[in-house]
Amino acid sequence: MRRYSVALIKGDGIGPEIIDEAVKVLDAVSVQENFEITYREALLGGAAIEMTGDPIPEETVEIATSCDAVLFGAIGGPKWDDLPREKRPETGLLKLRKALGVFANLRPTIVYDELINASPLKPQVIKGTDLIVVRELIGGIYFGEPRGYDGERAYNTMVYTREEVERIARTAFQIAMKRRKRVTSVDKANVLEVSQLWRERVTAVAQEYPEVHLDHLYIDNAAMQLIRDPKQFDVVLTGNIFGDILSDEASMISGSIGLLPSASLGEKHGLYEPIHGSAPDIAGQGIANPIAAIASAAMMLRYQFGEEGGAERIERAIRRVLKEGYRTRDIASFDAKEVVTTSEMGSLIAQYASEL
Ligand code: NAD
Repeated sequence: MRRYSVALIKGDGIGPEIIDEAVKVLDAVSVQENFEITYREALLGGAAIEMTGDPIPEETVEIATSCDAVLFGAIGGPKWDDLPREKRPETGLLKLRKALGVFANLRPTIVYDELINASPLKPQVIKGTDLIVVRELIGGIYFGEPRGYDGERAYNTMVYTREEVERIARTAFQIAMKRRKRVTSVDKANVLEVSQLWRERVTAVAQEYPEVHLDHLYIDNAAMQLIRDPKQFDVVLTGNIFGDILSDEASMISGSIGLLPSASLGEKHGLYEPIHGSAPDIAGQGIANPIAAIASAAMMLRYQFGEEGGAERIERAIRRVLKEGYRTRDIASFDAKEVVTTSEMGSLIAQYASEL
C-alpha cells in the first residue's frame, strides 16, 4: 500500500468547509486506487492568530515541512484587517510559501463545457481551452534588491539569476512532457536585460527536452493572444510579475473563481490551494463551491504523489456532476438542474469518483 502524509491547513472563512469536502473525495479515491493518506492539521492565518497570537506558529512550519504535501483552504477576513502587517493572516501565508521553498506556481485554466456561458468571452473562443500558467514565484521584481521609496523617488529591481530561470524552465518542460508538449515562454526581451537572460536560459533548457516545442512571446502580445485565441496555448512559462497578471487574466477565461485550483511546487515540497480567498461574505452558510479545493487535491495527487489515476478519477467526477446539472449557488445560473450545498457537492463528487 502506498502511503502519503498531508498537512491540512483549513484556515479561515470558507476554508474549513471546502477542505472537508476535498478530504471526503480523497478518502473515496484512496480506497479505489489503493493508497492511504494520513492527515495532520495545522493552524494558519486568522485561526492561528485566535489560538496563538501568531499568524504562523512554529508548529505549523514543522508540520508543513515534515509532511509529503500541504493542502490549504484560504486565510483572512475583516476581523484581522487592521492588524499591523507582521501580524496579519497574509504574512502567515507568505512565510509558509517561503518555508516550503515553493518557487513554481501552477495555475491551470479549465473550461468546463457545461459552464461555458460563465465566461465573459464568447463560447467559440474558449471552447476546448486547456492551458496551464507556470509562474516563477519567489524571485523577480517582487523580491529584487535594492528597492526604495522616499516620497519623491521610488524604485524596484527586476533580477533573475541563471539558476532561478533554469529551475522554473525545467518545471515547465517536465509538465509539458505530461501534456501536449508545447511551452510558450513569455518575457519582454526587446526591452529588458533580465528578459534577455530569461530567453537565453529557457532556450538552453529546451535542448534537454527535444520532444517539446518551444516558442517565445513578449508579454504584451501574450496578454492579447490569451484573449484572442486561448486554445493555442499548452504550458505558459513566465516570471513573477508577468505571471501574476497573466494567471489572473487566464482565470477569467473559465469565468468562476470557485472552480480553479493551483499548485505551488519546490524542490521538495508542494502547496495545493484553490485560487480564491476565504470568502467571509458566504462563510458558514454551506453554500461555498468546493470544486476549486477538490481540484487542488487532484493536482496534489498528480504532481506530488504521481497518482495520475486518482487525479483523473476526481477530474472526471467533477465533469460528471456539472454535466448532470448539479450546481452550487455561485454557478447556479448556468443550466442548473439542482442547486446543492457545499457538502452535497462534495459527496456527489466523492461518490462519482468511487464509481468511475
Ligand atoms: P475571495 O476570493 O475570498 O472572494 C471574492 C468573491 O468570490 C466573494 O463574493 C466570494 O463570496 C466569492 N467566492 C470566492 N470563493 C468562492 C467559492 N469557493 N464559492 C463561491 N463563491 C466564492 O476574495 P476577497 O473577497 O477579495 O477576499 C476575502 C478574504 O480572503 C480577504 O481577507 C483576503 O485577504 C483573503 N484572500 C486570501 C487568499 C488566500 O488565502 N490564498 C487569496 C485571496 C484573498
